[in-house]
Amino acid sequence: MRVWVDDQCCRGHGMCLTLCPEVFTLTDDGYAEAVRADVPTEYEAAAREAIECCPEQAIREG
Ligand code: SF4
Repeated sequence: MRVWVDDQCCRGHGMCLTLCPEVFTLTDDGYAEAVRADVPTEYEAAAREAIECCPEQAIREG
């Protein structure tokens, strides 16, 4: 599973960091980015939850 954050859509709510801090972080600009594009298997469920819960639908797979 690979993920990335579309910085055109992210509004920095931070939901993804709360749900999956092993994969997502906030940049100095206040937007999220994936610190690991390749999500380790043990974090896939949390990463999928972050995708589903992102208010801006800014997290992409692929
Ligand atoms: S939950 Fe979505 S909008 Fe909020 S910081 Fe994460 S990627 Fe950005």
